[in-house]
Amino acid sequence: MKKGISIFINEKLCKQCGICSALCPKKVLTQEVGCPPVVANLEDCIGCALCQMRCPDFAIEVEVK
Ligand code: SF4
Ligand code: SF4
Repeated sequence: MKKGISIFINEKLCKQCGICSALCPKKVLTQEVGCPPVVANLEDCIGCALCQMRCPDFAIEVEVK
């Protein structure tokens, strides 16, 4: 059974730098220039938390249940 994964993006903390969407190995996060990332295809997320670890503004939280 696939684990339950949730991704929370705090748009107030996000500075729209694009690091998270660029680094995600599964292209789960998409992002328009000047906008916060959007979780586009959560079903492909492997819960690696790279986005959370690399976000310089602590704006992403990945929860794996
Ligand atoms: S890495 Fe963090 S600050 Fe940068 S776009 Fe992603 S959520 Fe926003
Ligand atoms: S946890 Fe990993 S696979 Fe999921 S969105 Fe973040 S970087 Fe992408």
